[in-house]
Amino acid sequence: MNDRIYNFSAGPATLPAPALKRVQQAVWSYEDSGIGVLEHSHRSRPISTLFEETEAALRRIARIPDDFAVLFLQGGASSQFFMVPMNLLQQDATADYLDTGSWSQKAIKEAKHFGTAHVAASSTDKNYSYIPAPEAIRYSPNPAYIHYTSNNTIFGTEWADVPAAPEGVPVICDASSDILSRPLDLSRLDLVYAGAQKNLGPAGLTLVLVRRDLAASAKRELPTMLQYRTHIEHGSRYNTPPVFALCVLREVLRWMEDRGGLAAIAEQNRTKAQLLYDYLDQSRFFRATARPDSRSRMNVCFRAPSETLESRFVKEAERAGLSGLKGHRSVGGMRASIYNAFPPAGCERLVAFMRQFVRDHSN
Ligand code: PMP
Repeated sequence: MNDRIYNFSAGPATLPAPALKRVQQAVWSYEDSGIGVLEHSHRSRPISTLFEETEAALRRIARIPDDFAVLFLQGGASSQFFMVPMNLLQQDATADYLDTGSWSQKAIKEAKHFGTAHVAASSTDKNYSYIPAPEAIRYSPNPAYIHYTSNNTIFGTEWADVPAAPEGVPVICDASSDILSRPLDLSRLDLVYAGAQKNLGPAGLTLVLVRRDLAASAKRELPTMLQYRTHIEHGSRYNTPPVFALCVLREVLRWMEDRGGLAAIAEQNRTKAQLLYDYLDQSRFFRATARPDSRSRMNVCFRAPSETLESRFVKEAERAGLSGLKGHRSVGGMRASIYNAFPPAGCERLVAFMRQFVRDHSN
């Protein structure tokens, strides 16, 4: 392990070491078949088993009920921005969007190609530093669905819970940056999607959990590849699927189960984030940018007293083996992304580094 450094990248992000080790072997010879996982036919027995086992592990870990389909798609979460309204929003209908940052905005932009997108609440007035209160949400009279972004990767805010929605209206969640970081309440959700490159595995795989009856109610006059029902009917293997990405996901899920599943992982995520926020809150040098009640457990955004000090911080941290701490330009400063696989010891190292930085740069 000592040839690796702490990687705070927002995504693609650090993956569990045991999973990476097992994948290395699978690339050479998958389950002792003499053929690497990149070289097996996606119709072969070992790969069919890989798909079945990965889905079963996901269902166990996230308690996904049978009335939800589990789909392994491609095109990133960005393709779900259009696939959702393409399937579920009629031209004369309105979908309601909760706007909590750049990714919500991108989803809203795509919805407008297919129908009306109503912004039911937004935190743009304070540079997306908070999650709107329930009282601030104004849903339209008869929305086709409600869409929200559970964790705002760029701004470092996160919904503590699924937003309250009118009875019977489907709730759709972009969970790209906090999927499987805590238990998932699918009794209140109808479609959840996530690019894999933060908590699940490699970029190139997009996980979609969709209530089967919602997918069945979708429009039919669409290109085959862009209908959810195609992928449900073909077990995510209508065309050649991202087999390698599934192999990595399978190993990441194995690691999650070994660690005690979502409850244990959620607890560790809470502790890791708390360590950083507690330090930032008592510091008179650094300051966390997100409002305390809206803070993300995955992306911790913070500023130093000047931009000069911030760029020095990022450079010196990199030299100290703490990589990827530069914040997104729309917030500035620093961002520590600490997804599931990011080790607690890395958070401790970051706090120690911040303490030293303050000593070195205060006058
Ligand atoms: N939604 C969120 C919340 C994200 O963080 C990202 C990527 N960082 C996306 C959507 C876009 O994902 P992709 O690159 O997989 O299209």
